[in-house]
Amino acid sequence: MSQIYKTRLQKQTNISISQIDYYENIMYDKFADDVVVKSKIFAPSIQNAEVNSRKSKNCDIRNDNLIFNATSLRQAKILGQIDRKFIAATINGKKTEVNVDFLVLFDQHAVDERVNLERNLAEYFNGEFWRSVEVDSIPLKLNENELLYLHNHKHKLSQFGLQWTFQENKILINSIPKAIIGKNDRQEQIVLKAVHRLILEQIDVIETIGGNLNIFPKAIMDLVFSEACRNAIKFGDNVSISDCTTLLESLSSCKTPFQCAHGRPVMAVLMELPTNIRNYKV
Ligand SMILES: [Zn+2]
Repeated sequence: MSQIYKTRLQKQTNISISQIDYYENIMYDKFADDVVVKSKIFAPSIQNAEVNSRKSKNCDIRNDNLIFNATSLRQAKILGQIDRKFIAATINGKKTEVNVDFLVLFDQHAVDERVNLERNLAEYFNGEFWRSVEVDSIPLKLNENELLYLHNHKHKLSQFGLQWTFQENKILINSIPKAIIGKNDRQEQIVLKAVHRLILEQIDVIETIGGNLNIFPKAIMDLVFSEACRNAIKFGDNVSISDCTTLLESLSSCKTPFQCAHGRPVMAVLMELPTNIRNYKV
């Protein structure tokens, strides 16, 4: 298992069983190792990709002298699906400022997961506030300290789409972030657990850094990541050439196209193509 998954599993104790199974899937272990071993030309590190995605709006991914961006993805020539896991394509990138074609493999699950993540996030979050849905007063029992924080920071917590009224030692929740409910209406138990976790997380933020709330709380983001993963194309799924094209087109519009929701690289470069031989077939 790669370090990314190990770290994630250690950090996230509430991870669902099916996700654990998925991350521990042998195919993924092998893929992660293969990426490291085989992508000698280009091995994107998570740090670089993250720093870069924050810095640049061009979605460039750089490693030494290699640069790929959204245009590389839009103009990719799809060769086909490999082993029901990867999408083989040739894409144009820049190497030391010169345009070069590369043979690359995309992880079909990671690509779809990234597309889902950004599309869902745009639906759940408007850039400032988390969109909310009204619910029939759901009671949530809280301790005195938690109730006090909710009294004092009602406005701040409403940024997350959370609304409630007080009733003795509990709150009656009237609206909830849409992201917590999800697209297929999560069970009440899961929703309540997430809301409580959100409240505790924000109390912790208020106590430790004096009130500057993290607008992407873990309590919400874990559910958003998990939903993006669960609904994505898996290894083993058949993907047609036209679906591959649609996938890469959607990926090219993403803000951070070269990482899946969990930080795994979506693409590995296998080789640089000689300029006079460009007709590869799968
Ligand atoms: Zn996933």
